[in-house]
Amino acid sequence: MERPNSITIAGAGLAGALLSVMLGQRGYQVRILERRPDMRRSTVQAGRSINLALSSRGIHALQQAGLMDQVKKLLIPMRGRILHHLDGSTQFLSYGQRPEEVIYSVSRRDLNMLLMDAAELAPPVNVFFEQKIDAIDLQQRSLQISDLTDGYSRQESYERLIGADGAGSIVRRSLIPFVRGQSPSESSESSESSESSELLDHDYKELEIPPSADGGYRIEPEALHIWPRGDYMLIALPNQGGSFTVTLFLPKTGQPSFATLNSHQAVNAFFQQQFPDALELIPDLADDFFRNPQGILGTVRCQPWYYSDQVVLIGDAAHAVVPFHGQGMNASFEDCSELIRLLDQHGHAWDQALPQYYQARLPNANAIADMALENYTIMRDSVSQPQFQLKKDVGFELERRYPDRFIPRYSMVMFHLLPYADAQRIGQIQDSILEQLITGKSQPHEIDYDLADQLIHSQLEIISS
Ligand code: FAD
Repeated sequence: MERPNSITIAGAGLAGALLSVMLGQRGYQVRILERRPDMRRSTVQAGRSINLALSSRGIHALQQAGLMDQVKKLLIPMRGRILHHLDGSTQFLSYGQRPEEVIYSVSRRDLNMLLMDAAELAPPVNVFFEQKIDAIDLQQRSLQISDLTDGYSRQESYERLIGADGAGSIVRRSLIPFVRGQSPSESSESSESSESSELLDHDYKELEIPPSADGGYRIEPEALHIWPRGDYMLIALPNQGGSFTVTLFLPKTGQPSFATLNSHQAVNAFFQQQFPDALELIPDLADDFFRNPQGILGTVRCQPWYYSDQVVLIGDAAHAVVPFHGQGMNASFEDCSELIRLLDQHGHAWDQALPQYYQARLPNANAIADMALENYTIMRDSVSQPQFQLKKDVGFELERRYPDRFIPRYSMVMFHLLPYADAQRIGQIQDSILEQLITGKSQPHEIDYDLADQLIHSQLEIISS
Protein backbone atom coordinates (compact mmCIF):
# COMPACT_ATOMS: atom_id res chain seq x y z
CA MET A 1 0.00 0.00 0.00
CA GLU A 2 1.22 3.53 -0.75
CA ARG A 3 1.92 6.08 1.97
CA PRO A 4 -0.92 8.27 3.23
CA ASN A 5 -1.54 11.30 1.03
CA SER A 6 -0.15 9.48 -1.95
CA ILE A 7 -1.73 10.27 -5.28
CA THR A 8 -1.67 8.42 -8.57
CA ILE A 9 -2.25 10.49 -11.70
CA ALA A 10 -3.21 8.73 -14.94
CA GLY A 11 -1.52 10.68 -17.77
CA ALA A 12 1.45 13.09 -17.92
CA GLY A 13 -0.19 15.28 -20.56
CA LEU A 14 -0.74 18.99 -20.03
CA ALA A 15 -3.26 18.76 -17.18
CA GLY A 16 -1.69 15.81 -15.33
CA ALA A 17 1.79 17.32 -15.40
CA LEU A 18 0.60 20.75 -14.19
CA LEU A 19 -1.53 19.31 -11.39
CA SER A 20 1.35 17.12 -10.24
CA VAL A 21 3.50 20.26 -9.83
CA MET A 22 0.80 21.93 -7.75
CA LEU A 23 0.24 18.84 -5.58
CA GLY A 24 3.99 18.26 -5.19
CA GLN A 25 4.33 21.86 -3.98
CA ARG A 26 1.82 20.96 -1.24
CA GLY A 27 3.78 17.93 -0.08
CA TYR A 28 1.77 15.12 -1.68
CA GLN A 29 3.60 12.01 -2.84
CA VAL A 30 2.66 11.88 -6.52
CA ARG A 31 3.31 9.17 -9.08
CA ILE A 32 2.22 9.67 -12.68
CA LEU A 33 1.62 6.70 -14.95
CA GLU A 34 2.03 7.70 -18.60
CA ARG A 35 1.58 5.29 -21.48
CA ARG A 36 3.82 7.17 -23.93
CA PRO A 37 7.63 7.16 -23.88
CA ASP A 38 9.34 10.17 -22.29
CA MET A 39 9.14 12.86 -25.02
CA ARG A 40 12.23 14.55 -23.53
CA ARG A 41 14.29 11.56 -24.63
CA SER A 42 12.74 10.95 -28.06
CA THR A 43 13.17 13.05 -31.19
CA VAL A 44 10.23 14.73 -32.85
CA GLN A 45 9.12 13.51 -36.28
CA ALA A 46 10.45 15.98 -38.87
CA GLY A 47 8.07 18.85 -39.47
CA ARG A 48 5.66 17.82 -36.71
CA SER A 49 5.55 20.80 -34.42
CA ILE A 50 2.07 21.15 -33.03
CA ASN A 51 1.06 24.35 -31.28
CA LEU A 52 -1.76 25.61 -29.12
CA ALA A 53 -3.23 28.99 -28.20
CA LEU A 54 -2.63 29.88 -24.55
CA SER A 55 -4.80 32.59 -22.98
CA SER A 56 -5.69 34.12 -19.61
CA ARG A 57 -7.11 31.07 -17.82
CA GLY A 58 -4.12 28.91 -18.67
CA ILE A 59 -1.71 31.73 -17.86
CA HIS A 60 -3.38 32.25 -14.47
CA ALA A 61 -2.92 28.56 -13.56
CA LEU A 62 0.71 28.58 -14.72
CA GLN A 63 1.32 31.69 -12.62
CA GLN A 64 -0.25 29.96 -9.63
CA ALA A 65 2.25 27.12 -10.07
CA GLY A 66 5.12 29.64 -10.33
CA LEU A 67 5.96 28.55 -13.89
CA MET A 68 5.01 31.55 -15.98
CA ASP A 69 8.51 33.06 -16.11
CA GLN A 70 9.78 29.88 -17.78
CA VAL A 71 6.72 29.46 -20.02
CA LYS A 72 7.04 33.08 -21.29
CA LYS A 73 10.17 32.09 -23.18
CA LEU A 74 8.11 29.67 -25.31
CA LEU A 75 5.38 32.14 -26.32
CA ILE A 76 4.64 34.05 -29.51
CA PRO A 77 1.92 36.71 -29.16
CA MET A 78 -0.97 36.63 -31.63
CA ARG A 79 -2.74 40.02 -31.64
CA GLY A 80 -5.59 39.09 -33.93
CA ARG A 81 -6.77 37.08 -36.89
CA ILE A 82 -5.44 37.66 -40.39
CA LEU A 83 -8.10 36.56 -42.86
CA HIS A 84 -6.91 35.29 -46.23
CA HIS A 85 -9.66 35.80 -48.78
CA LEU A 86 -10.01 33.77 -51.96
CA ASP A 87 -8.89 36.70 -54.14
CA GLY A 88 -5.56 36.79 -52.27
CA SER A 89 -6.34 39.90 -50.21
CA THR A 90 -5.79 39.83 -46.44
CA GLN A 91 -7.47 41.60 -43.57
CA PHE A 92 -6.43 41.99 -39.91
CA LEU A 93 -9.10 41.70 -37.20
CA SER A 94 -7.87 42.48 -33.70
CA TYR A 95 -8.80 40.02 -30.91
CA GLY A 96 -9.05 42.69 -28.25
CA GLN A 97 -8.59 46.43 -27.91
CA ARG A 98 -6.04 46.73 -25.09
CA PRO A 99 -2.32 46.05 -25.58
CA GLU A 100 -2.45 43.10 -23.17
CA GLU A 101 -5.40 41.50 -24.98
CA VAL A 102 -3.44 38.98 -27.03
CA ILE A 103 -3.34 35.20 -27.10
CA TYR A 104 -0.11 33.21 -27.36
CA SER A 105 1.03 30.41 -29.61
CA VAL A 106 3.01 27.75 -27.74
CA SER A 107 4.45 24.40 -28.80
CA ARG A 108 2.49 21.58 -27.14
CA ARG A 109 5.62 19.50 -26.86
CA ASP A 110 7.82 22.25 -25.37
CA LEU A 111 5.14 23.16 -22.85
CA ASN A 112 4.54 19.54 -21.87
CA MET A 113 8.30 18.96 -21.48
CA LEU A 114 8.62 22.09 -19.30
CA LEU A 115 5.78 20.86 -17.09
CA MET A 116 7.35 17.39 -16.79
CA ASP A 117 10.70 18.93 -15.83
CA ALA A 118 8.97 21.09 -13.23
CA ALA A 119 7.12 18.03 -11.89
CA GLU A 120 10.29 16.00 -11.50
CA LEU A 121 12.09 18.92 -9.85
CA ALA A 122 9.52 18.75 -7.05
CA PRO A 123 10.94 15.71 -5.16
CA PRO A 124 7.61 14.06 -4.19
CA VAL A 125 6.64 13.67 -7.90
CA ASN A 126 7.73 10.69 -9.99
CA VAL A 127 6.74 10.09 -13.60
CA PHE A 128 6.73 6.50 -14.90
CA PHE A 129 6.68 6.31 -18.70
CA GLU A 130 5.40 3.53 -20.95
CA GLN A 131 3.06 2.44 -18.17
CA LYS A 132 -0.42 1.98 -19.58
CA ILE A 133 -3.44 1.64 -17.30
CA ASP A 134 -5.62 -1.09 -18.82
CA ALA A 135 -8.32 -1.50 -16.18
CA ILE A 136 -9.36 -0.07 -12.84
CA ASP A 137 -11.18 -1.77 -9.96
CA LEU A 138 -12.66 1.12 -7.99
CA GLN A 139 -14.02 -1.19 -5.29
CA GLN A 140 -10.60 -2.66 -4.56
CA ARG A 141 -8.73 0.56 -5.48
CA SER A 142 -6.43 -1.30 -7.81
CA LEU A 143 -5.00 -0.71 -11.27
CA GLN A 144 -4.11 -3.18 -14.00
CA ILE A 145 -0.97 -1.74 -15.61
CA SER A 146 0.93 -2.86 -18.73
CA ASP A 147 4.62 -2.11 -18.72
CA LEU A 148 5.15 -1.34 -22.41
CA THR A 149 8.93 -1.67 -22.07
CA ASP A 150 8.78 -5.41 -21.35
CA GLY A 151 5.17 -6.37 -22.12
CA TYR A 152 4.44 -7.52 -18.55
CA SER A 153 1.17 -6.73 -16.83
CA ARG A 154 0.78 -6.17 -13.08
CA GLN A 155 -1.71 -5.02 -10.47
CA GLU A 156 -1.06 -2.14 -8.11
CA SER A 157 -3.16 -0.40 -5.51
CA TYR A 158 -3.80 3.33 -5.34
CA GLU A 159 -4.96 5.55 -2.53
CA ARG A 160 -6.28 8.44 -4.62
CA LEU A 161 -6.56 8.43 -8.38
CA ILE A 162 -6.71 11.43 -10.69
CA GLY A 163 -7.86 10.80 -14.25
CA ALA A 164 -5.83 13.16 -16.47
CA ASP A 165 -5.74 10.64 -19.28
CA GLY A 166 -7.37 12.66 -22.03
CA ALA A 167 -10.47 12.30 -24.19
CA GLY A 168 -10.41 8.48 -24.31
CA SER A 169 -9.89 8.26 -20.51
CA ILE A 170 -9.89 4.78 -18.97
CA VAL A 171 -10.51 6.43 -15.59
CA ARG A 172 -13.74 8.01 -16.90
CA ARG A 173 -14.81 4.79 -18.59
CA SER A 174 -14.36 2.95 -15.27
CA LEU A 175 -15.81 5.65 -13.02
CA ILE A 176 -19.15 6.27 -14.74
CA PRO A 177 -20.43 2.64 -14.80
CA PHE A 178 -19.08 2.09 -11.30
CA VAL A 179 -21.01 5.06 -9.88
CA ARG A 180 -24.12 3.95 -11.79
CA GLY A 181 -23.86 0.53 -10.17
CA GLN A 182 -23.61 1.90 -6.64
CA SER A 183 -26.70 1.77 -4.42
CA PRO A 184 -27.99 5.22 -3.36
CA SER A 185 -26.68 4.65 0.18
CA GLU A 186 -23.18 4.11 -1.20
CA SER A 187 -23.15 7.01 -3.63
CA SER A 188 -25.40 10.04 -3.83
CA GLU A 189 -24.74 10.44 -7.57
CA SER A 190 -25.95 7.01 -8.69
CA SER A 191 -29.01 8.39 -10.48
CA GLU A 192 -27.04 11.14 -12.21
CA SER A 193 -24.25 9.27 -13.92
CA SER A 194 -23.97 9.61 -17.69
CA GLU A 195 -21.42 9.88 -20.46
CA SER A 196 -21.59 11.05 -24.06
CA SER A 197 -19.02 11.50 -26.83
CA GLU A 198 -20.19 13.39 -29.89
CA LEU A 199 -17.84 13.24 -32.83
CA LEU A 200 -17.83 16.16 -35.23
CA ASP A 201 -18.42 15.25 -38.87
CA HIS A 202 -15.28 17.25 -39.71
CA ASP A 203 -11.71 15.97 -39.20
CA TYR A 204 -8.37 17.78 -39.24
CA LYS A 205 -4.92 17.39 -40.75
CA GLU A 206 -1.76 19.20 -39.68
CA LEU A 207 0.67 20.59 -42.28
CA GLU A 208 3.61 22.98 -42.13
CA ILE A 209 4.82 26.28 -43.59
CA PRO A 210 8.61 26.04 -43.18
CA PRO A 211 10.82 29.07 -42.38
CA SER A 212 12.12 31.19 -45.26
CA ALA A 213 15.64 30.60 -46.60
CA ASP A 214 17.08 33.12 -44.10
CA GLY A 215 15.27 31.44 -41.19
CA GLY A 216 12.55 34.11 -40.92
CA TYR A 217 8.76 33.90 -41.11
CA ARG A 218 7.09 33.77 -44.52
CA ILE A 219 3.91 35.45 -43.26
CA GLU A 220 3.16 37.81 -40.34
CA PRO A 221 4.13 35.90 -37.16
CA GLU A 222 2.12 37.80 -34.57
CA ALA A 223 -1.29 36.63 -35.76
CA LEU A 224 -3.49 33.59 -36.19
CA HIS A 225 -4.03 33.16 -39.92
CA ILE A 226 -7.40 31.92 -41.19
CA TRP A 227 -8.48 30.99 -44.69
CA PRO A 228 -12.29 30.87 -44.10
CA ARG A 229 -14.13 29.07 -46.87
CA GLY A 230 -17.67 28.62 -45.56
CA ASP A 231 -17.96 24.92 -44.81
CA TYR A 232 -14.27 24.39 -44.05
CA MET A 233 -11.09 26.34 -43.26
CA LEU A 234 -7.34 26.36 -43.04
CA ILE A 235 -5.57 28.01 -40.10
CA ALA A 236 -1.90 28.67 -39.26
CA LEU A 237 -0.23 29.45 -35.92
CA PRO A 238 3.42 30.57 -35.62
CA ASN A 239 6.18 28.44 -34.09
CA GLN A 240 9.49 29.63 -32.70
CA GLY A 241 12.14 29.22 -35.40
CA GLY A 242 10.17 30.65 -38.31
CA SER A 243 7.70 27.88 -39.18
CA PHE A 244 3.91 27.77 -38.90
CA THR A 245 1.73 24.80 -38.04
CA VAL A 246 -1.12 24.76 -40.53
CA THR A 247 -4.34 22.87 -39.84
CA LEU A 248 -6.98 21.97 -42.41
CA PHE A 249 -10.48 21.41 -40.96
CA LEU A 250 -12.72 19.72 -43.51
CA PRO A 251 -15.81 17.44 -43.62
CA LYS A 252 -15.06 13.71 -43.53
CA THR A 253 -17.34 13.00 -46.50
CA GLY A 254 -19.11 14.93 -49.25
CA GLN A 255 -17.70 17.37 -51.76
CA PRO A 256 -15.05 18.55 -50.96
CA SER A 257 -13.98 16.34 -48.06
CA PHE A 258 -11.15 14.20 -46.77
CA ALA A 259 -12.78 11.34 -48.66
CA THR A 260 -12.36 13.16 -51.99
CA LEU A 261 -8.77 14.27 -51.29
CA ASN A 262 -7.50 10.81 -52.10
CA SER A 263 -4.55 11.50 -54.41
CA HIS A 264 -1.61 13.92 -54.70
CA GLN A 265 -3.34 15.47 -57.68
CA ALA A 266 -6.65 15.96 -55.82
CA VAL A 267 -4.89 17.61 -52.86
CA ASN A 268 -2.86 19.96 -55.05
CA ALA A 269 -5.88 20.88 -57.17
CA PHE A 270 -8.01 21.58 -54.07
CA PHE A 271 -5.36 23.87 -52.58
CA GLN A 272 -4.77 25.53 -55.95
CA GLN A 273 -8.46 26.34 -56.16
CA GLN A 274 -9.23 27.23 -52.51
CA PHE A 275 -5.96 28.27 -50.87
CA PRO A 276 -3.63 29.35 -53.70
CA ASP A 277 -1.57 31.71 -51.50
CA ALA A 278 -1.10 28.97 -48.87
CA LEU A 279 -0.11 26.42 -51.53
CA GLU A 280 2.90 28.58 -52.40
CA LEU A 281 4.00 28.46 -48.75
CA ILE A 282 3.73 24.67 -48.20
CA PRO A 283 6.36 23.10 -50.46
CA ASP A 284 5.70 19.46 -49.48
CA LEU A 285 1.95 19.77 -49.37
CA ALA A 286 0.80 16.45 -50.83
CA ASP A 287 3.60 14.41 -49.20
CA ASP A 288 2.83 15.98 -45.81
CA PHE A 289 -0.86 15.47 -46.37
CA PHE A 290 -0.53 11.73 -46.85
CA ARG A 291 2.23 11.29 -44.23
CA ASN A 292 0.38 13.03 -41.38
CA PRO A 293 -2.56 11.41 -39.59
CA GLN A 294 -6.14 12.59 -40.04
CA GLY A 295 -7.37 13.58 -36.57
CA ILE A 296 -10.89 13.33 -35.21
CA LEU A 297 -12.63 16.01 -33.15
CA GLY A 298 -15.37 15.67 -30.59
CA THR A 299 -17.05 16.74 -27.40
CA VAL A 300 -17.06 14.55 -24.29
CA ARG A 301 -19.54 15.27 -21.52
CA CYS A 302 -19.97 13.13 -18.42
CA GLN A 303 -21.18 13.16 -14.87
CA PRO A 304 -20.12 12.81 -12.14
CA TRP A 305 -16.41 13.64 -12.28
CA TYR A 306 -15.55 12.09 -8.92
CA TYR A 307 -16.20 9.19 -6.61
CA SER A 308 -16.10 9.67 -2.86
CA ASP A 309 -12.76 11.23 -1.84
CA GLN A 310 -10.84 8.73 -3.98
CA VAL A 311 -11.17 9.42 -7.71
CA VAL A 312 -11.50 12.62 -9.73
CA LEU A 313 -11.30 13.61 -13.41
CA ILE A 314 -9.55 16.70 -14.82
CA GLY A 315 -8.95 18.07 -18.31
CA ASP A 316 -10.10 16.30 -21.47
CA ALA A 317 -10.87 13.16 -19.45
CA ALA A 318 -13.82 15.08 -17.95
CA HIS A 319 -14.69 17.45 -20.80
CA ALA A 320 -12.96 17.20 -24.18
CA VAL A 321 -14.12 20.09 -26.40
CA VAL A 322 -13.59 20.91 -30.07
CA PRO A 323 -10.58 23.22 -30.56
CA PHE A 324 -12.28 26.23 -32.18
CA HIS A 325 -12.19 28.51 -29.15
CA GLY A 326 -8.62 27.54 -28.27
CA GLN A 327 -9.79 26.63 -24.77
CA GLY A 328 -9.34 22.86 -24.19
CA MET A 329 -5.93 23.21 -22.54
CA ASN A 330 -6.89 26.50 -20.90
CA ALA A 331 -10.01 24.92 -19.38
CA SER A 332 -7.91 21.93 -18.26
CA PHE A 333 -5.42 24.24 -16.55
CA GLU A 334 -8.34 26.10 -14.95
CA ASP A 335 -9.54 22.73 -13.54
CA CYS A 336 -6.13 22.40 -11.85
CA SER A 337 -6.32 25.89 -10.28
CA GLU A 338 -9.89 25.34 -9.13
CA LEU A 339 -9.20 21.92 -7.61
CA ILE A 340 -6.13 23.22 -5.78
CA ARG A 341 -7.98 26.35 -4.61
CA LEU A 342 -10.74 24.20 -3.10
CA LEU A 343 -8.29 21.75 -1.52
CA ASP A 344 -6.43 24.67 0.08
CA GLN A 345 -9.72 26.22 1.21
CA HIS A 346 -10.92 22.97 2.82
CA GLY A 347 -7.66 22.14 4.56
CA HIS A 348 -7.12 19.31 2.05
CA ALA A 349 -10.30 17.50 3.04
CA TRP A 350 -10.84 15.74 -0.30
CA ASP A 351 -14.35 14.63 0.61
CA GLN A 352 -15.37 18.30 0.78
CA ALA A 353 -13.28 19.67 -2.08
CA LEU A 354 -14.21 17.09 -4.77
CA PRO A 355 -18.02 17.63 -4.81
CA GLN A 356 -17.51 21.40 -4.85
CA TYR A 357 -14.95 21.17 -7.65
CA TYR A 358 -17.37 19.09 -9.71
CA GLN A 359 -20.39 21.34 -9.03
CA ALA A 360 -18.36 24.43 -9.95
CA ARG A 361 -16.72 23.05 -13.08
CA LEU A 362 -19.52 21.06 -14.76
CA PRO A 363 -21.65 24.05 -15.93
CA ASN A 364 -18.50 25.81 -17.09
CA ALA A 365 -17.31 22.76 -19.04
CA ASN A 366 -20.70 22.49 -20.72
CA ALA A 367 -20.64 26.20 -21.57
CA ILE A 368 -17.19 26.13 -23.19
CA ALA A 369 -18.13 22.95 -25.08
CA ASP A 370 -21.12 24.79 -26.61
CA MET A 371 -19.20 28.00 -27.31
CA ALA A 372 -16.36 26.03 -28.95
CA LEU A 373 -18.83 24.36 -31.32
CA GLU A 374 -20.39 27.74 -32.18
CA ASN A 375 -16.99 29.21 -32.83
CA TYR A 376 -16.35 26.76 -35.65
CA THR A 377 -19.08 28.41 -37.71
CA ILE A 378 -17.71 31.82 -36.75
CA MET A 379 -14.14 30.98 -37.81
CA ARG A 380 -14.89 29.20 -41.06
CA ASP A 381 -17.78 31.37 -42.20
CA SER A 382 -19.14 34.36 -40.24
CA VAL A 383 -15.73 35.97 -39.71
CA SER A 384 -15.57 37.01 -43.34
CA GLN A 385 -19.10 38.51 -43.41
CA PRO A 386 -19.42 42.34 -43.14
CA GLN A 387 -22.15 41.98 -40.47
CA PHE A 388 -19.75 39.99 -38.22
CA GLN A 389 -17.14 42.72 -38.53
CA LEU A 390 -19.69 45.46 -37.85
CA LYS A 391 -20.86 43.57 -34.74
CA LYS A 392 -17.27 43.25 -33.59
CA ASP A 393 -16.62 47.01 -34.10
CA VAL A 394 -19.82 47.99 -32.29
CA GLY A 395 -18.99 45.53 -29.49
CA PHE A 396 -15.58 47.21 -29.04
CA GLU A 397 -17.22 50.67 -29.03
CA LEU A 398 -19.71 49.53 -26.36
CA GLU A 399 -16.85 48.13 -24.30
CA ARG A 400 -15.10 51.53 -24.52
CA ARG A 401 -18.30 53.30 -23.41
CA TYR A 402 -19.38 50.77 -20.73
CA PRO A 403 -16.22 48.90 -19.66
CA ASP A 404 -17.83 47.46 -16.53
CA ARG A 405 -21.02 46.28 -18.25
CA PHE A 406 -20.10 45.30 -21.79
CA ILE A 407 -17.09 43.05 -22.39
CA PRO A 408 -17.40 41.22 -25.75
CA ARG A 409 -17.95 37.48 -25.27
CA TYR A 410 -14.72 36.52 -27.03
CA SER A 411 -12.82 38.79 -24.61
CA MET A 412 -14.66 37.37 -21.56
CA VAL A 413 -13.57 33.87 -22.60
CA MET A 414 -10.02 34.65 -23.69
CA PHE A 415 -8.84 37.62 -21.58
CA HIS A 416 -10.84 37.35 -18.34
CA LEU A 417 -11.37 34.71 -15.65
CA LEU A 418 -15.14 35.10 -15.53
CA PRO A 419 -16.70 31.60 -15.36
CA TYR A 420 -17.43 30.24 -18.85
CA ALA A 421 -21.12 29.76 -17.97
CA ASP A 422 -21.41 33.47 -17.08
CA ALA A 423 -19.63 34.46 -20.31
CA GLN A 424 -22.08 32.31 -22.25
CA ARG A 425 -25.16 33.74 -20.48
CA ILE A 426 -24.04 37.37 -20.72
CA GLY A 427 -22.90 36.77 -24.31
CA GLN A 428 -26.42 35.72 -25.32
CA ILE A 429 -27.89 38.99 -23.98
CA GLN A 430 -25.12 41.01 -25.67
CA ASP A 431 -25.79 39.25 -28.93
CA SER A 432 -29.47 40.15 -28.92
CA ILE A 433 -28.56 43.78 -28.10
CA LEU A 434 -26.01 43.89 -30.93
CA GLU A 435 -28.49 42.31 -33.37
CA GLN A 436 -31.02 45.02 -32.51
CA LEU A 437 -28.43 47.75 -32.97
CA ILE A 438 -26.90 46.62 -36.25
CA THR A 439 -29.99 45.42 -38.12
CA GLY A 440 -30.25 47.46 -41.31
CA LYS A 441 -26.94 49.27 -40.62
CA SER A 442 -23.60 48.90 -42.34
CA GLN A 443 -21.29 51.36 -40.49
CA PRO A 444 -20.54 51.90 -36.77
CA HIS A 445 -21.46 55.64 -37.04
CA GLU A 446 -25.04 54.70 -38.04
CA ILE A 447 -25.64 53.00 -34.69
CA ASP A 448 -28.21 54.49 -32.33
CA TYR A 449 -26.13 54.85 -29.16
CA ASP A 450 -29.06 56.25 -27.14
CA LEU A 451 -30.85 52.97 -27.76
CA ALA A 452 -27.64 51.10 -26.90
CA ASP A 453 -27.44 52.98 -23.58
CA GLN A 454 -31.03 52.09 -22.76
CA LEU A 455 -30.63 48.41 -23.69
CA ILE A 456 -27.35 48.02 -21.80
CA HIS A 457 -28.62 49.61 -18.59
CA SER A 458 -31.87 47.66 -18.66
CA GLN A 459 -30.42 44.26 -19.62
CA LEU A 460 -26.80 44.01 -18.50
CA GLU A 461 -25.50 44.12 -14.95
CA ILE A 462 -22.05 45.23 -13.84
CA ILE A 463 -19.62 42.41 -14.58
CA SER A 464 -17.41 41.41 -11.67
CA SER A 465 -14.64 39.03 -12.62
P1 FAD B 1 -3.91 15.10 -23.03
O1 FAD B 1 -3.07 16.26 -23.41
O2 FAD B 1 -4.61 14.33 -24.08
O3 FAD B 1 -3.06 14.13 -22.10
C1 FAD B 1 -3.53 12.87 -21.70
C2 FAD B 1 -2.32 12.01 -21.37
O4 FAD B 1 -2.77 10.76 -20.82
C3 FAD B 1 -1.48 11.65 -22.59
O5 FAD B 1 -0.12 11.91 -22.31
C4 FAD B 1 -1.76 10.17 -22.81
O6 FAD B 1 -0.66 9.48 -23.39
C5 FAD B 1 -2.03 9.70 -21.39
N1 FAD B 1 -2.87 8.48 -21.32
C6 FAD B 1 -4.02 8.26 -21.99
N2 FAD B 1 -4.52 7.05 -21.67
C7 FAD B 1 -3.66 6.49 -20.77
C8 FAD B 1 -3.63 5.25 -20.07
N3 FAD B 1 -4.59 4.31 -20.25
N4 FAD B 1 -2.61 5.00 -19.23
C9 FAD B 1 -1.62 5.94 -19.03
N5 FAD B 1 -1.59 7.13 -19.70
C10 FAD B 1 -2.60 7.41 -20.54
N6 FAD B 1 -6.51 23.77 -26.37
C11 FAD B 1 -6.23 25.07 -26.14
O7 FAD B 1 -6.37 25.53 -24.99
N7 FAD B 1 -5.79 25.89 -27.13
C12 FAD B 1 -5.64 25.44 -28.41
O8 FAD B 1 -5.25 26.22 -29.29
C13 FAD B 1 -5.94 24.09 -28.70
N8 FAD B 1 -5.81 23.61 -29.95
C14 FAD B 1 -6.09 22.31 -30.22
C15 FAD B 1 -5.98 21.85 -31.53
C16 FAD B 1 -6.29 20.53 -31.83
C17 FAD B 1 -6.18 20.05 -33.25
C18 FAD B 1 -6.71 19.66 -30.79
C19 FAD B 1 -7.06 18.23 -31.09
C20 FAD B 1 -6.81 20.11 -29.48
C21 FAD B 1 -6.52 21.44 -29.17
N9 FAD B 1 -6.63 21.94 -27.88
C22 FAD B 1 -6.37 23.26 -27.63
C23 FAD B 1 -7.10 21.08 -26.78
C24 FAD B 1 -5.95 20.53 -25.93
O9 FAD B 1 -5.06 19.82 -26.76
C25 FAD B 1 -6.49 19.60 -24.84
O10 FAD B 1 -7.58 20.19 -24.20
C26 FAD B 1 -5.41 19.28 -23.82
O11 FAD B 1 -4.37 18.55 -24.43
C27 FAD B 1 -5.99 18.48 -22.66
O12 FAD B 1 -4.97 18.09 -21.79
P2 FAD B 1 -5.10 16.73 -20.96
O13 FAD B 1 -3.86 16.66 -20.14
O14 FAD B 1 -6.42 16.69 -20.29
O15 FAD B 1 -5.11 15.58 -22.05
